Amino acid sequence: MDWVSDLMLQNPNRWNRDIIYLIFVKEEADQIVSILIPTTNQPNKVVWFKENSGIYSVKSGYKLLLDLSNVNVNEKKLFKQIWSLMCPSKIHILMWKFVKNFIPIYQNLHFRRLITDNKCLRCRLVCESSTHAIQDYLIVAEVWSKLNVQCQIQ
Ligand SMILES: [Zn+2]
Repeated sequence: MDWVSDLMLQNPNRWNRDIIYLIFVKEEADQIVSILIPTTNQPNKVVWFKENSGIYSVKSGYKLLLDLSNVNVNEKKLFKQIWSLMCPSKIHILMWKFVKNFIPIYQNLHFRRLITDNKCLRCRLVCESSTHAIQDYLIVAEVWSKLNVQCQIQ
């Protein structure tokens, strides 16, 4: 069974209730059979439900992932700010990687047991975390300021 139409009967078009109630739990089956079916036959096609056009977009896929993940509200606000910036997409991706701890800074390398010491090479005082790398240095803070992004990562 590959298509929704495999769950339908024709002439007249209707749900195949026997199969639906056999395959799905009652609550799901009830929801399925409550959906109206077109009276005329339609060709099968793949539709992305998060876009009115039915065509997948990276934006809507990303939004769905955010909704499904347990990203906190502050992170969502930050991601929204990042993705709304008028800058090349590689900059968006770099900032997103920083927020998600995907950048090979010492803290992340240490967490993955690739190095033994997570101290920042510049100051040798604290762990080189994302926050330390993107907030604590004057030149980096200047970049954020020019991009009009308020960085409040916890
Ligand atoms: Zn440092």
